[in-house]
Amino acid sequence: MITRRKFLAGASIAPVVLAGASIAPARAMAASKTFQMATSTPAKIVILGAGFSGLAAAYFLSKQGTDATILEARPRIGGRVLSHTIDDADNLVVELGAEWVGASHARLLSLCKELGLELKNNQLNTRLIYNGKYFEKEAWAYSDAWKNKFQEILDNYANLSEEDKIDLDQMDWWRYLVDNGISGQDLDVRELIDSTDFGESIRQVSAFAALSEYAESSRKNEMDYKIVGGNQQLAKAIAAKLKPEQILLNHRVVSIVQSGETVTITCSNGFKIEANKVICTLPTFAMKQIAWEPMLPRDKQRAISGLQYARINKNALLYNQRFWNDESYDLVTDVLPHYLYHATKNQPSQKGVLISYVIGDKADVFARQSDEWRSAVVDDALKSAFIDTRSRLLKQVSYYWGNDDYSRGSYAIYGTGQWFTIRPILERNFENVYFAGEHIADWQGFMEGAIETGEAAAEQILS
Ligand SMILES: Cc1cc2nc3c(=O)[nH]c(=O)nc-3n(C[C@H](O)[C@H](O)[C@H](O)COP(=O)(O)OP(=O)(O)OC[C@H]3O[C@@H](n4cnc5c(N)ncnc54)[C@H](O)[C@@H]3O)c2cc1C
Repeated sequence: MITRRKFLAGASIAPVVLAGASIAPARAMAASKTFQMATSTPAKIVILGAGFSGLAAAYFLSKQGTDATILEARPRIGGRVLSHTIDDADNLVVELGAEWVGASHARLLSLCKELGLELKNNQLNTRLIYNGKYFEKEAWAYSDAWKNKFQEILDNYANLSEEDKIDLDQMDWWRYLVDNGISGQDLDVRELIDSTDFGESIRQVSAFAALSEYAESSRKNEMDYKIVGGNQQLAKAIAAKLKPEQILLNHRVVSIVQSGETVTITCSNGFKIEANKVICTLPTFAMKQIAWEPMLPRDKQRAISGLQYARINKNALLYNQRFWNDESYDLVTDVLPHYLYHATKNQPSQKGVLISYVIGDKADVFARQSDEWRSAVVDDALKSAFIDTRSRLLKQVSYYWGNDDYSRGSYAIYGTGQWFTIRPILERNFENVYFAGEHIADWQGFMEGAIETGEAAAEQILS
């Protein structure tokens, strides 16, 4: 299969010049002592961010005998992977960030195996609420005509020329689907489901980014497994393989000064560190807050400004009973809670959690309301299927990624004309700073992409 990145490597596409704002002006650097890294190898490497990308990079380097230092702004590791114990008594863990591990996510699966982490099946069978009616899992489907047409589109993906792919990137996924004949309920439902995948309306998603993802994904669209004990277990397992002094929490990078072979990094707490090479795994919002000296190249600044991140609100509702009566329960709706799914599959307990996963403008609305409002809206949506869910509710936890201090969104969303233009610019090194993170990955938007780009940056530095 021609992967998205392999295609890029073979293509010679002139980057499109985009209009955009410039990066934040340089901030005054806090005076502090300079920390010289103690390392037995000549390469002094600092990694920005202890998400999956930064941790994977550090682990890769440590296996090659190089101890990198990770600077992490938050008081915890894992970044956008955020496992939360919602019920201590029964040890029920829910994911407020990344949820599913895909069957095609080879690097992540291999790291889990290497580090002794177990994965359990997390595939779900989708019900539907549409136009006020509730449909059980086998009681709704796309029309045969659309199923056949979509299969034809997927089968044809391997035959697309590079020019075809660039053309596709110029249109949005909704337009592409409509041009291919989808309409009525098929279109409405497809729009709801695919918008869930991208975290914003598919009218904002590059048709190439969408088609390549669907054509290269597992049968259940990479919604296959979850790590036992929570996906954050992988962050913890990697951290346990590093020396404790390699990960500095509460170290928010505020400036990066490159001069000759030396990169000097300063944190908001006054901490300073020098390195020869830096791996920056930060989401673009965080990158933009840093004072870069010299300034990032103008095309990189434009690319950073041009990339949006999807808004997702996750609202986890703990009930005293799994009234949905199926461990593999999920439900797509055309009402406010958008997508509801059983989030404690394979976690034994009488209690259980449904997560309401809300995207885009709806996520913004959800985030601004009270817990009471959110649970009432979910209860209302579930009324067509279940009687009295409200009295069973024990607890509720909500997290809105659109307001997250470091990403202002859940994952990057490539809009029309962006995949082949700004992505190559974002991934390009800047002097001694190398870039990694989900936003520039082949498996963009996934934990796998974070890992694969972190490891690739580490390998590039060592080569
Ligand atoms: C709601 C939601 C649902 C998702 N669902 C899935 C899913 O089902 N499956 C899947 O595979 N993926 C999913 N993802 C995506 C997945 O979480 C990300 O792709 C991945 O975790 C990104 O890792 P990263 O290392 O690239 O970035 P991050 O995890 O964001 O790591 C970057 C780190 O840099 C730190 N940082 C930021 N600024 C600074 C600074 N100035 N100084 C120092 N440190 C800084 C941040 O705190 C963060 O820890 C989901 C994400 C969200 C939010």
